[in-house]
Amino acid sequence: LAKQSGQNHFQFYVASIDRQIRERRQMEKDLSQALSRHEFHLVYQPQISLETRRVVGAEALLRWQHSEHGLIPPDIFIPVAEASGAIVPIGQWVLEQACWQAATWAREGMPLRVAVNLSAVQLRQESIVDDVLDTLKRHKIPAGRLELEVTETSFMTNLTDAVGKLHRLHRAGISIAVDDFGTGYSSLTYLKKMPVQHLKIDKQFIQDLLINEEDTRIANTIIDLGRSLNLTVVAEGVETPEQEYYLSQRGCKVAQGYLFSKPLLPRDFETFVQTFHAQIVENNS
Ligand code: C2E
Ligand code: MG
Ligand code: MG
Ligand code: MG
Repeated sequence: LAKQSGQNHFQFYVASIDRQIRERRQMEKDLSQALSRHEFHLVYQPQISLETRRVVGAEALLRWQHSEHGLIPPDIFIPVAEASGAIVPIGQWVLEQACWQAATWAREGMPLRVAVNLSAVQLRQESIVDDVLDTLKRHKIPAGRLELEVTETSFMTNLTDAVGKLHRLHRAGISIAVDDFGTGYSSLTYLKKMPVQHLKIDKQFIQDLLINEEDTRIANTIIDLGRSLNLTVVAEGVETPEQEYYLSQRGCKVAQGYLFSKPLLPRDFETFVQTFHAQIVENNS
């Protein structure tokens, strides 16, 4: 019986792998057509200064509205797009769209910095620096209004190449953030070599802040590291007032999370900024 069920199990396993491969191929195909089908849009999550309680920036986050499957989360489709190479044109579209939005907001009297996630695959592209600078130029936005978020993995394949490109971007005035800090293969050597201005504490360490002692220690360590290297530390995934209070007391300068707002469509983002800033005026008067 054991053998029989083992065999069944094996067959089930094969069938399911086969299905996974088919689904993945289908997703690759759908991804390659998603841009021309206008299935992508961006949402923006406010970044709040814990010192001034003002919105200091917006992180652009990609959304894929699939014609059959509905909204597919980026954690599912970004890795597939990275493997197939589709992330290159998709990432360029994100950059284009985010710069257009930054320019529009600036014209409307809301000159915010917009942060864009840059995939390791994009950073490996020969033309990436020129592409970014060209996009800024076309939308006539100052380089200081753009931040690029890269992960530690981006530095791994070719450190020298990544350092060189990030230096060129930084020299042009773009700020660089290390995203999901603490989850990758952190090395203090690259932090010294990299023209990095922001460290984003990964939300997994914020989630159980003050509950899990280890996570609290890791968050503390990142905040201290940021201070000693003169980097702005951004906490992501802040959901409770207790987390906010702790982080601000501990010296973390910027926070992002559901406590303030989920990622929003541009219109809702504008309303959020107005309401949030109006609250400060109210509280101060
Ligand atoms: P990320 O860049 O680390 O973005 C933060 C993620 O945390 C976002 O998920 C955001 O919606 C979520 N988040 C924000 N506040 C909270 C909170 O308080 N609690 C919880 N539980 N989550 C919160 P999202 O939008 O699903 O994006 C997931 C990941 O997909 C991003 O992580 C980023 O790595 C990637 N991604 C998104 N857009 C792009 C893009 O345009 N290009 C590239 N290359 N990657 C992207
Ligand atoms: Mg990010
Ligand atoms: Mg992150
Ligand atoms: Mg992430």
